[in-house]
Formats: sequence, structure tokens, C-alpha cells
Amino acid sequence: MALIVQKYGGTSVGSPERIRNVAQRVAKFKAQGHQIVVVVSAMSGETNRLIALAKEIQAKPDPRELDVMVSTGEQVTIALLSMALMEMGLKAKSYTGAQVRVLTDSAFTKARILAIDEEKMRADLDAGFVVVVAGFQGVDGDGNITTLGRGGSDTTGVALAAALKADECQIYTDVDGVYTTDPRIEPKAKRLKSITFEEMLEMASLGSKVLQIRSVEFAGKYKVKLRVLSSFEEEGEGTLITFEEESKMEQPIISGIAFNRDEAKITVRGVPDKPGIAYQILGPVADANIEVDMIIQNVGVEGTTDFSFTVHKNDFEKAIGILKGVQGHLEAKDVLGDDRIAKVSVVGVGMRSHVGVASQMFRTLAEEGINIQMISTSEIKISVVIDEKYLELAVRVLHKAFHLEQEV
Ligand code: ADP
Ligand code: ASP
Ligand code: MG
Repeated sequence: MALIVQKYGGTSVGSPERIRNVAQRVAKFKAQGHQIVVVVSAMSGETNRLIALAKEIQAKPDPRELDVMVSTGEQVTIALLSMALMEMGLKAKSYTGAQVRVLTDSAFTKARILAIDEEKMRADLDAGFVVVVAGFQGVDGDGNITTLGRGGSDTTGVALAAALKADECQIYTDVDGVYTTDPRIEPKAKRLKSITFEEMLEMASLGSKVLQIRSVEFAGKYKVKLRVLSSFEEEGEGTLITFEEESKMEQPIISGIAFNRDEAKITVRGVPDKPGIAYQILGPVADANIEVDMIIQNVGVEGTTDFSFTVHKNDFEKAIGILKGVQGHLEAKDVLGDDRIAKVSVVGVGMRSHVGVASQMFRTLAEEGINIQMISTSEIKISVVIDEKYLELAVRVLHKAFHLEQEV
């Protein structure tokens, strides 16, 4: 007998029929003698619908009220799934985040889980219930409802698995695993049998939204056995997220390609090339709580230099405004912005022991006439910023150049 946490995403619970299918899968595992905790998302489209509705009343919805509202999506699904399980003759009980309780900090719309009370769940499991918990939501120390950021049900799943010391956390979604890149962009993408935590963390933080970044962090920290699977297929081993030392097979140099359309680029032109200039530019940006991702400072020519960085598109206008405000003080010639960029990254632990990955990447893009605007690297990834209109082309040619295509 194993204790398994299963998480089902929005598409997987998108209709009554699909909820019944989920119930059937849960029943199958239960019949095998396992204890099951199920975490569900809101029905597909529901969270977006609720956010849009809020914006009809308040252009920038109050974060606390927004959380009260969007958390209702998951509350509907837990009840529906519990009913479906009961209809199949199983004992089931649903819990909201607050009822469990999933204790979080008070950062509305992007709260972090601090602790999980697993006693009630354990008592229910021992009494033969399937426990159904709302993903994406928690409660802070003062009893306020919080949510964990978009895609946060993954994190609920992994956090519950960690708290319950579950044997496995299974993330059921609309693809049958983690692919070499988003199969919606490159149909030749290949499912990975396994991927290391480190690589998955990079893929997630560089834009692969198949798992929320925090869920991967959690799984790595608490050593949760994590698997991504299809909720639409009966069989299949999915993708196991492994620790590097566990994976015996030799690693490919590149495991996957991630991309992100959510960033925008800002360039401060012609600033004096002197100590403190980076701080003078980024200090006010940081003070406004704007996160900066890639940063590039050119080599100074005749005493001046250009300084570029990227921010989330949501913060673009605000950041430009801040810099225009200090342009005189910075003695900058110009403040320029471009929100039609995309970031493409190649990721792989094999890069550590291989040279030439960067040059291969740059050559491949050059052959297609794709201009690289910014570059950043770490031990296991290389990212470039390009014009967003070349994003899909870049992903496909890189996928081919690094031999990631599906074997036929
Ligand atoms: P859920 O609602 O089940 O949480 P998501 O839409 O959040 O599902 O995540 C699944 C989607 O992630 C897939 O449909 C796919 O388009 C996208 N995706 C992006 N990158 C990858 C990747 N490398 N492998 C698999 N899926 C990916
Ligand atoms: N329903 C939430 C969202 O759409 C959480 C999730 O699906 O993981 O972001
Ligand atoms: Mg998701």
C-alpha cells in the first residue's frame, strides 16, 4: 500500500465528463489498495474568467479581494470530484486550503506555503476516505484566503506530498510528460523519460509552464518523488523528475528548450561609464519592487556606455516611467524600450562537460538570420533574447540542431 498524491490540472477537470474520468482513475488506484489524496485545479478557463470579471469592476483588482474570488474556482472542483467519487461508491471528502490548513504568508496572489496541517487528512485516509484538496489556495495567519500564483496547484500537490511523506506525487495534465520543448510549438518534441530536478527547475523558470517553479523547488528540497503524466491516457510512465546521481544513463548535452514571451527589454543609452552607474539605474527599479532578469552593460566607448535589462511585461511601462524620471540625473542620452522580444534558452546538465554548445546555438540562429540582442549563461543553460516574431522558428531550428526530434 502506498500513499499517493495526485494533482489534476484545469483541462483534466474541464467538464463533468472529465471529472468522472478523474474519479475513475482515482478509484482504480484506490482498488489497488493505495491511499489517495487528490489536488485539483479550477475547471479550465475558470481562473481567467474570474480575473476578467474582477477587472470589469476594478482595473487593478485589490489583491486580497482577488484571492477571495479566484479561489472559488478550485472550491467548485473539489466538491464536484468528491460527488463523482461518491457516485462510484467511494468515501470522499473535500477540503479548501483553509480547511486543511495550508498556512501561507500574506503575499496575496503570490503567497508562499509555510506549513501544512496533515492530521485531518491522515485521519480521513486511515478511515478509508479519498481526500480531495483545493489546489492554488491557502490561508494566512490572520485567516485571510491567499493564492499561490498562476499554476499554483502543482505546488499544493507537491507540498501535500512532502507534508504527508507520500510515496509519490503524480501531476496529471494534458500532455503525457515533460517534453524536449512545448509540443504546441514543436510537434516533433519528444517526451523525456526523466529529467533532473536542476534541469526541470531551469526549464520552469525559463518559461516551461508544465510545472510551476515553486513545485519543483519544493520537490527538490523535500525529496518528493515527482512524476508528470497524462490524464487522458490509460497507461504511460510519463516523466520522472530525478536527482542527477540517480540517472544512470549518460545525459544528453541538451535536455530541452524553454522560451518566454513575458519579458520586455529596456535600454539606457549613453550613460557615463563610471562606478555606481549600474546601481543608479537599477536602484530605483528595485525600489519599485520590479524584478529584473537579464542585464547587459556594454564596454564603454569614449567615456559612455549602454545598459540594457529585461523586466516582466507587466512592469514594462512602470520601469520606463521610472527611468525617464531619472534620465537627467543619470545623464543618459536616451531611454528605449522594446516589448516585442522573446527569450529562448537551451538547458542541459551535459553542458558542464561539453564545450561548443553556445557556438552551436549562435551558429544555428545566425544561419536563419535571427539577430541575438542579449545573451546570458549559467552552468547548465544558455539564454538569448531575440525579436519575438522569430520565436517559433528559433525553437524549431534549435530543437533540430541539438538532435532533440522524435525518433520515427
Ligand atoms: P494544467 O492545467 O494541467 O496544470 P498547464 O497548461 O499548466 O496544465 O501545463 C501543461 C502545458 O504545458 C502543456 O499543454 C504544454 O503546452 C505546456 N508545456 C510547455 N513546455 C512544456 C514542456 N517542455 N513539456 C510539456 N509541456 C509543456
Ligand atoms: N487555477 C489556477 C490557475 O489557473 C491554478 C492552477 O491551475 O494550477 O492558475
Ligand atoms: Mg499548470
